[in-house]
Amino acid sequence: MEVQANIGKVLNFLGQWDRGDRTVRSRMLKTFLAQNAGKTFYELEVEFAQVASLFLARLTTWTRLTYTSGTFLVLQLKSIGIFLSAACHDQYLAEFVQDGGVFILLEISSLSRSREEELKEALRLLLAVSNAGRKYKEMICDSRGVKTLTVSLAESNTDESQDAAWAVLESLSYGNPKYQSQVYKGLIPLMTCSSPRAQQLVLHTLHTMQAKMKTAPHSIVEPLLDLLRSLHLEVQAGAINLILDLKDYDVRPVLLSGLVALLRPTKEMQQQQNMEESAIIKITGSLPVFVQQAAAAKTIRFLAEGSKEISRELLSLGVIRHLLYAMGNREHTDAQVQAGLALEHFVRSYPVLEDQVQRVAGIELFTALMHKSDSLYMDMDEAQAEMLLTNTVHITEGIDSFIVRLVKRIFRSMMPRRKRTGLEMAEKAKPTRKRSKTALKEEETTDASPLSTFHFFHDAADVELLRSRLLRWYDEEKRELPWRTLAATEPDLNIRTYAVWVSEIMLQQTQVATVIDYYNKWMRRWPTAEDLAAATLEEVNQMWAGLGYYSRGKRLHAGAQKVVTELQGQMPRTADSLLKQLPGVGRYTAAAIGSIALGQVTGAVDGNVIRVLCRIRAVGADSTSPAVTDTLWRLVNMLVDPERPGDFNQAMMELGARVCTPKGPLCSRCPVQSHCHSYRKVKKKHVKQGENSRRLFGKLDEKPSPPPDIEDCRNGGTCPLCPSEPWDDEMGVQNFPRKPAKKPPRVERTLTCVVIRAGEEDEYLLSQRPDNGLLAGLWDFPSLLQEEKSSEVEQKKALCAEISRISGMHLTADLQRVGEVVHIFSHIRQTYVVHSVRLKDSDTQTQSGNTRWLTRSALEGAAVSTGVKKILKRCDPQKEQTSKDGKTQKHGCTKNRKNLQTSKRPRLDAADGSRRRSLSSFFKTVKQEC
Ligand code: SF4
Ligand code: ZN
Repeated sequence: MEVQANIGKVLNFLGQWDRGDRTVRSRMLKTFLAQNAGKTFYELEVEFAQVASLFLARLTTWTRLTYTSGTFLVLQLKSIGIFLSAACHDQYLAEFVQDGGVFILLEISSLSRSREEELKEALRLLLAVSNAGRKYKEMICDSRGVKTLTVSLAESNTDESQDAAWAVLESLSYGNPKYQSQVYKGLIPLMTCSSPRAQQLVLHTLHTMQAKMKTAPHSIVEPLLDLLRSLHLEVQAGAINLILDLKDYDVRPVLLSGLVALLRPTKEMQQQQNMEESAIIKITGSLPVFVQQAAAAKTIRFLAEGSKEISRELLSLGVIRHLLYAMGNREHTDAQVQAGLALEHFVRSYPVLEDQVQRVAGIELFTALMHKSDSLYMDMDEAQAEMLLTNTVHITEGIDSFIVRLVKRIFRSMMPRRKRTGLEMAEKAKPTRKRSKTALKEEETTDASPLSTFHFFHDAADVELLRSRLLRWYDEEKRELPWRTLAATEPDLNIRTYAVWVSEIMLQQTQVATVIDYYNKWMRRWPTAEDLAAATLEEVNQMWAGLGYYSRGKRLHAGAQKVVTELQGQMPRTADSLLKQLPGVGRYTAAAIGSIALGQVTGAVDGNVIRVLCRIRAVGADSTSPAVTDTLWRLVNMLVDPERPGDFNQAMMELGARVCTPKGPLCSRCPVQSHCHSYRKVKKKHVKQGENSRRLFGKLDEKPSPPPDIEDCRNGGTCPLCPSEPWDDEMGVQNFPRKPAKKPPRVERTLTCVVIRAGEEDEYLLSQRPDNGLLAGLWDFPSLLQEEKSSEVEQKKALCAEISRISGMHLTADLQRVGEVVHIFSHIRQTYVVHSVRLKDSDTQTQSGNTRWLTRSALEGAAVSTGVKKILKRCDPQKEQTSKDGKTQKHGCTKNRKNLQTSKRPRLDAADGSRRRSLSSFFKTVKQEC
């Protein structure tokens, strides 16, 4: 009967749909969405009397007939999404595809007038189809899906739809051998699109696909080399990475000669810029072709460092002549630096080159090249630059004679040790040159910008040195933490992203040592976002109890549910989408997850990083001001290592937590000490003080030790990054960062009462706090804010009334004042005025849904705040005292105990061991006594 009734209901529903007009159907879809989100195949079948497919078929047909008009399209797509994401079975998916679903979705994606929401929904459904397996991927590719998706990626207006298109392309790129090459080739033209974000995503996918490809087409070379001129560092780093991947394919000769040619841009190349580039030139003062020149030199160095064979090929292409040319480009410092570093590598690897390079550069410049190639541009005068620009070095002769030099070196290694050491010392003793006046003058003029370069890094080699020192230190010193292990070993991208997300949320405002236990328990219980989504908020609050800032757990839970219901179980794949799609994820958290779990090249600024960077670059203005915040993000994005962005960010935080600590920083053990302005400032002051005391004690004839080579901010009083307050000698490097004076916390007094009912085991009355606001959803002792100037009698009366209100019971026993407990929240200084009362049996009947009785042990494990635990503890000492002296307590939770009768009625709601009942039983209504 029941089955027949259900079938009748479904037939009625379908009939209503068939007869209904657009308005009726849209209303039916809204109801369908509200009632069926997240249901599995079996649940939908039960709901639709085993014929849910009939409704899916109608939906698909209606969508096919109406998608061009766009009426209610989002509703239709979302409803189809409920079928496609129904877990446990892919019957709906197969039926949808059979009815032409893939074609419809691709058509919607390619319609230029598709609205953003429709495009995103269509792409999400395509992702679900693609993720269902190889045959579905092939179906999409057979329907010209790659072309459609690449156009969507290149032309989408928002990050979200770009991410969605990219996610489908990425899904098509694996587990799809038949069309792998089609996807790969389809991505190549996208490198020339105008969106840096799309370029970055494409480079990332090509990089991951390249290892699986047997060949690389020549068509990849030109767009790839073009990307080296990108001023977006992530794009440039992605292009360099892909070039390094391609070194083992047959495109290598074309790539190498292309790179070498870029070192020497022609006049025509210098004049060619598109409109966007012209605007960038106005802001940065850099010609794109020079940016490309620097990036080419850098790539050449990486290639040569990685392979002797490639470095010889580069030599045969005349790389030395071109590097010398790039080194003479005084219009672009980074090109000079990168060319200098590459040239230094070649000369060290092939000593035969020394003579020729020295002949062109002159002895002084050559010495600078070999000892400080990263800063030799500062010493270069016009005449020297001209020599470099007009050099005509031919190195093939040199390569031949290299063999002769090699033989000499072998002989030298056979010399007696004493003689050899003498030679090596003579080499080391080569003089270094002081800065020329011209260079200093140049520095003075460049330092007059509104934001002084003093607070930034303007030397690429300096940045690389800092990265390598910091990462080396991190590799040796880092703490093994459970989330780090998961981030490094978990192969599933969804689980890895989820694991890092959980750790980052737990670590907000909480110490590492406190988080470890919570994190381990959490991940054991909810190892994936799906597991967390299936938990109740009550369980989450219970797990979070004691960690503080309880809204964090609530948001994690809401985020996991969103991932499951709206994102088809896929965690967002970029920092931007993490920021937009997950509740509780801010700019820092998104960047940290993006870099640690997803390898995205982005810096992350948290409290530790603020401190470290402010000290390293002597940023002393209010660290919460927009100017400083903006500067710190710029700095960290400039510094982050493109090869190991996640490790770099963690290394910065680790440094802040363990070396560059708020108080007592350990500068002597700091791996980045030589890059630190504040450290040098302190050092300089010490040297000065030393000189003054020598003066005082008449020792002027003694030679003072030279002050460290220190610049200073040239913008002085007008600089928005320099401290406005005077330097305090006592504080040393702790002068940085400066925070604004803290607002004093709000002072509050709250009356609270520990209500106990006696039994085999004492039980405590708790009530649930509202869903919003402080400690939302947690369980608390009955409490209310204390009225100002109220007498003790009035306070007790108010508290009794509150207990009656929330529990519905009439109190007949007197409240006892126990004492006060202070608990500090981030913005409130809360004083709990603690009372207690032991109930007579007749008082204990309650009938409110928001209260429960818990035993002590159940209370300790429940979703309660630290404040509740402190209050409970406050009641404890008196209890112990009673048992020791056996006298009646004056104050405390145990007063009147002997006067109480133990309840004889069955304790159905006791929360201990064998008799513990489900949470819902705590809400059992009990007859009111009064
Ligand atoms: Fe911090 Fe000192 Fe290192 Fe500078 S040298 S970053 S102040 S620990
Ligand atoms: Zn300054």
